[in-house]
Amino acid sequence: MTKRVVIAGAGLAGSLLAVYLARAGWHVDLRERRGDPRSKNFVQGRSINLAISARGIKALRRAGLESQVLCDAIRMPGRMMHSRSGALTFQQYSSNTEHAILSISRSALNLVLLNAAAAEPNVRVSFDQRCGELDAVRGIATFVNTVSGSEEQVEADLIVGADGAYSAVRNAMQRREGFDFEQSWLGHGYKEMTIAPVATGPHAPFAMEPNALHIWPRGSSMMIALPNPDGSFTCTLFWPHRSSDGSADGFDKIADPITGRRHFEREYADALELMPTFDADFAANPVGWMLTIRCRPWSSGARAVLVGDAAHAIVPFFGQGANASFEDCEALLDSLERHTTDVGAAIREYERARKPNADAIAEMALQNFIEMRDRTASRAFLARKSVEHLLHRIVPKLFTPRYDMVSFDTIPYAEALAKSQRQDAWLTTVAVAALGVVVAGSVLIVRALMSGGA
Ligand SMILES: Cc1cc2nc3c(=O)[nH]c(=O)nc-3n(C[C@H](O)[C@H](O)[C@H](O)COP(=O)(O)OP(=O)(O)OC[C@H]3O[C@@H](n4cnc5c(N)ncnc54)[C@H](O)[C@@H]3O)c2cc1C
Repeated sequence: MTKRVVIAGAGLAGSLLAVYLARAGWHVDLRERRGDPRSKNFVQGRSINLAISARGIKALRRAGLESQVLCDAIRMPGRMMHSRSGALTFQQYSSNTEHAILSISRSALNLVLLNAAAAEPNVRVSFDQRCGELDAVRGIATFVNTVSGSEEQVEADLIVGADGAYSAVRNAMQRREGFDFEQSWLGHGYKEMTIAPVATGPHAPFAMEPNALHIWPRGSSMMIALPNPDGSFTCTLFWPHRSSDGSADGFDKIADPITGRRHFEREYADALELMPTFDADFAANPVGWMLTIRCRPWSSGARAVLVGDAAHAIVPFFGQGANASFEDCEALLDSLERHTTDVGAAIREYERARKPNADAIAEMALQNFIEMRDRTASRAFLARKSVEHLLHRIVPKLFTPRYDMVSFDTIPYAEALAKSQRQDAWLTTVAVAALGVVVAGSVLIVRALMSGGA
C-alpha cells in the first residue's frame, strides 16, 4: 500500500523532501502556512540571496534540479575584504581555484523546489495551512486554514516538521517527557541593505567585483554583500543588538537613517557611495534575530520527525543552514529506503546519523562569525591561511582546511570539525616549535657575535 506523508512547511527543506519522497513512491501532502508564492510573483520582490555549496548542490542534483537552480548562480571563489579606507584584499577560499560557493536567490530556489514538488503526480500542495497540534503516536497533525479558520486533522504514516526555526511540530513534541531543548540567541542582529546596479564601470552592471563574497570586517561587527544576477548586491549588516561600553555600533544606538549614515561614513564609506536607497532601506528593513537551536530527539513516537531549521537552526556565518537542511532530506530519504516496512526505525536511524553533524555545524558556524568579523583583517590570519593552502596543495590527503571540508566537500560535518581541530593543534605545535628554533638560533647568533666582538 502507498504510504502517506504529511510535510508541514513548504520552505527549502520541505519542498525538496516532497520531491524525493514522491519519487520514492510516497503520497505526499505538503502544507504551507503562508499563501501561494506563485500567485504573488515573489521572485520579482526584493533580492535576498543564499550561498549554496557542495552539499546543497549534491542534494539538488539528486532531484535533477541542479542546472535549473544554478543557471543564475554567481560564483564566489573567495572573500573580498574592504578596509575602512576602502582598500581591497582578495582571499581565495581554497587552494583549488575551481572551488567556489554560489550566490543564488532564496525565493527563486524555493520556487524551483515548490514547482518541482507540485509537478509530481502524487504530491498535493496546499497553502494558508498552519500546523498546530500533533499526535505523534497516532500520526495525526492538525492544520488550521489561516484564511477560513477551519480546522482539519490529517492522518499519515509519517509527519515531517519542515516548518523552520520556530517549528510548531517541534513545539508539540516538546510537550512530551524526555524532550531536550536549548535555544541560544546571538547578541548580534542583522539588517539587509542594497547596493544598486550601475550603468558604467569596470564590473557594470555590478558596482563591485561580482565574483566574491564582500566583507567589511570591523572587529565586533561586520557587513557582508553577495551579488545578484541583476547587478545588485544584497548587503547584510551584522551588528550587536545593544552597544556595549567598548562599541557604539549597536542597533539600539544606530536606529535611524541619519545616525546610520553617519556611522557608514566612518566605517563603510566605500559602500555608502553605492547605496542610493540607503535611507529608505535603513528605515524600512527590520532588524532580524539569529539563534542556535539544539534539541533531542528529532522524532516522536514512530511517526513524527523534524528536518532542517526545525531540528537545528544555526547562525548563518558558514552559509550552511540550507545546505545542512538539504543533507537532512537526503539522509531521511536514505533511511526510509533502507527501512521500507518500519518508519520508526528509519527516523531513529536518520536522527542518529544527522544529530552529531548538526551539532558540529552549529559550533563551526558560531566560530566562523568571529573569524569573519575579527580575524579576516589580520596579517597573522592571512599568513595562516596561506600555510593551510600550501599544505593542502602539497599533502591534500593529510591536510584539508576546514573551509574546504565544509563548503567544497560532503564529508560529515562532525568529521570536518574533529579533523580541523586535530590539524589546528598540529599547526600550532609546529608554529611554536618553529618559533622556538628561530629564537634559539637568534640567541646563538647574538652570543657568537658578542663573543667574537669581545
Ligand atoms: C540572514 C540569514 C542568512 C542565511 N544565509 C544562508 C546561506 O548563505 N546559506 C545557507 O545554506 N543557509 C543560509 N541561511 C539559513 C537558511 O535560510 C535556513 O537554514 C533554511 O532556510 C532552512 O530551511 P527550512 O526549510 O528548514 O526552513 P525555512 O526555509 O524557514 O522554511 C520553513 C517553512 O515552513 C513554513 N511554516 C512555518 N511554520 C509553519 C506551520 N506552523 N505550519 C506550516 N508551515 C509552516 C514557513 O512559512 C516556511 O515556508 C541563512 C539564514 C539567515 C537568517
